[in-house]
Amino acid sequence: MSRIVVVSNRVGPLTDTGRAGGLAVALVDVLRERGGLWFGWSGEVSEEGTYGPLRFNESGNVSTATIDVAQADYDESYAGFANRALWPTLHYRLDLTDFDRRLEQGYRRVNERFADRLIPLLRPDDIVWVHDYHFFFLGEMLRNAGVKNPIGFFLHIPFPVPEILTALPNHKELTRALLSYDLVGFQTGQHLSAFERYLFEEVDGEREADGSIRAMGRQVVADAFPIGIDASAFSNFHETSEGHEHYALMKNELGDQKQIVGVDRIDYSKGLPERFTAFERLLELHPDSKGEVTLLQIAPPSRSEVRAYLEIQRLLEGLSGRINGRFSDLDWTPIHFITRSFPRRSLAGIYRASSVGLVTPLRDGMNLVAKEYIAAQDPEDPGVLVLSRFAGAAEEMTEAVIVNPYSIDELADGLRQAIQMPLEERRERWEALYDKVMTNTASAWSRRFLDRLVSIHDEATVDG
Ligand code: ADP
Repeated sequence: MSRIVVVSNRVGPLTDTGRAGGLAVALVDVLRERGGLWFGWSGEVSEEGTYGPLRFNESGNVSTATIDVAQADYDESYAGFANRALWPTLHYRLDLTDFDRRLEQGYRRVNERFADRLIPLLRPDDIVWVHDYHFFFLGEMLRNAGVKNPIGFFLHIPFPVPEILTALPNHKELTRALLSYDLVGFQTGQHLSAFERYLFEEVDGEREADGSIRAMGRQVVADAFPIGIDASAFSNFHETSEGHEHYALMKNELGDQKQIVGVDRIDYSKGLPERFTAFERLLELHPDSKGEVTLLQIAPPSRSEVRAYLEIQRLLEGLSGRINGRFSDLDWTPIHFITRSFPRRSLAGIYRASSVGLVTPLRDGMNLVAKEYIAAQDPEDPGVLVLSRFAGAAEEMTEAVIVNPYSIDELADGLRQAIQMPLEERRERWEALYDKVMTNTASAWSRRFLDRLVSIHDEATVDG
């Protein structure tokens, strides 16, 4: 069986599923199954940067290889073009997009350097899988250097409709680069059709008989591969000591009160101010909620080198302070806003103790928290998921209470509906959702993508 080579911005960890993020868990399974190499950024900034030594780590049949980046690379590529131009545009936030040719050149340079460092590590029968918006150009650079291996790309964040994407001055270069991959994967059918529409409408793409698309002198297969979580691990976390401890702590604290929980990185795509405001609306419209329902929002800061992230954090601190000042009583505080992170096992306990999981991004590739919340519930007394229609997860998780996060009234109504939902309906909805989460797991997802990539490459080899 061919070895898998995964490329992503952050690498690992290969062990300790309690700490590993969703992507790590999803990838470690297939890496272990087939043996593999995981290549990416060390997370360090150094003077030598991408020219410095490769750092190797091994665990069984899987190794990781990482390199540093230089300060200028970090500023222009990661904190620059990736997080100031691509992230906001792909999340429909043109108002926050900062397009600067210098940043774009930095991004290209980093893609090129990563390709250069990866090439000597590749074996002829490796299958290469590149992840996410940090590496649009990597496949093209590998191809230009003569790499013949199957190369796939998966975009974890949304692919916007052409009317939005074309606001990026280099939209053509970006999509042309995607056509260098054998297979391009998206989270949802909506993202896939936005990509196809771009190719058909902007660059005269044409559908081939085998379903692939030919455009700009290249040919690509694109499809939707909705990502999953390590569902059975997550649903068992409540039995671990951390899971149980956090569950018991919350239950004890809450007594008869119901808790709404939100868990997100602080990011303007997550719809956090709208959530706080909707909770405030709930308290205004339904005074009987006072003292009965609390909102716990766990949201550690991220990307604080980008101004928009600091601004949203300040906004949230102000909002929670104002709402708490307005509604708190001596024995009750409506909003608990915690800006630290928790181990995954503890999160599972917190999810399980919460009657409502509030997942209301304004735009999200998938949103794994929605799936984690469902996996962690008690089958006898499951909570209710309130889910934004603009999260990729809404395409699959149709039994959630689906809301439009731009409408504060609709959000408040959704919360009320979830809080009051009778046990029988909660169970029905949860069972359907749990089934989906347990079926489309992280490892099923990665296997589906890789099998498809291998079959495309095999067909191309047979054809000629
Ligand atoms: P994004 O990738 O945009 O951050 P997702 O919801 O897809 O959003 O994934 C977020 C992941 O990060 C989830 O696995 C979630 O459990 C984890 N996470 C988010 N907030 C915290 C936190 N405060 N502590 C620990 N893990 C967190």
